[in-house]
Amino acid sequence: MSAIPTRADLAALPAYVPGRTVPGAIKLASNEVPGGPLPSVAEAITRASREINRYPDMGAWALVERLASEFDVPTSQVAVGCGSVSLCQQFVQALCAPGDEVLFAWRSFEAYPIVTQVGNATPVRVPLTPSHTHDLDAMLAAITPKTRLVFVCNPNNPTGTAVRTEELTRFLDAVPSDVLVVLDEAYREFVTDPDVPDGMEFARTRPNVAALRTFSKAYGLAGLRVGYAVASEPVIEALRKVYVAFSVNALAQSAALASLDAKDELLARCAEIVGERTRVRDALLGMGYEVPETMANFVWLPLRERTAEFAEHALDHKIVVRPFAGEGVRVTIGTAEENDVFLEAARAYLA
Ligand code: PMP
Repeated sequence: MSAIPTRADLAALPAYVPGRTVPGAIKLASNEVPGGPLPSVAEAITRASREINRYPDMGAWALVERLASEFDVPTSQVAVGCGSVSLCQQFVQALCAPGDEVLFAWRSFEAYPIVTQVGNATPVRVPLTPSHTHDLDAMLAAITPKTRLVFVCNPNNPTGTAVRTEELTRFLDAVPSDVLVVLDEAYREFVTDPDVPDGMEFARTRPNVAALRTFSKAYGLAGLRVGYAVASEPVIEALRKVYVAFSVNALAQSAALASLDAKDELLARCAEIVGERTRVRDALLGMGYEVPETMANFVWLPLRERTAEFAEHALDHKIVVRPFAGEGVRVTIGTAEENDVFLEAARAYLA
């Protein structure tokens, strides 16, 4: 039997490597929050589950309206997607013709090169600075007439570092007006430095800027898959054209709405994680580890050639971290108890 021919270029596609789940070990590998759903959110999911014989609201209109009022934009400037990773793919599909370039820092969120190549566009990676931050000047210099899209992950996954208002404003002022800059703010709710700009402000006022957020992290709905983007009307219209019909399911829509109702409580949980983040980073610095300043719910240990060894050592101590081969290890902030187990492992690694 002859094989069905599939796209030859898919063989060269980098694989998305999800954080591992190891029975009996603490998972600090996927930047999830440690707490399960609030009772009100669980109730909303149960209520919605009674009608899953019906298709969900295709446009997720209640959620779109709620987000529009939350961010003070018209509904024509809001799109939802099956996780913000789906919206990353939609941006490429909506904006890029074959061979167009999509620019992003590297290392950054590993889905960027994948969705770019799936969309037949060309990924252009601009190295982070030696201090693990975006090199916005180099990114600006890398823009060509073929560039259609730039992802700026702020705070950056996996380094946790964040660009500040002055440098981002300067960058956005200089980017050509026909290039869309997507500010990927998956970790926005964990940002504590007021000088890290709110991407929604830019998305509201600049037609070539989009802000991308998710219910997966601070809102604790990673398993339900819902993200959203705020952008100018033509961009949102194009995102909706490439939306896979019904891909934000009914449970996700209801849970997202209930989470917005419980925003204060959920953000208070984030504040606890931020407190733990400071404690974990300070402890690691005290042990002599290099740990860049982080504005997200994880820390980055640029361990380079010791990355795999450290990850194995952590697993021996029942902690699953996220190794990036030859570069470093990303560790999600968990509960205080989980973080203590990790810190003990980190201490033992040096012994
Ligand atoms: N953007 C960034 C920077 C991320 O780290 C992630 C998840 N790891 C996503 C987007 C996608 O998240 P989700 O699809 O769960 O919304």
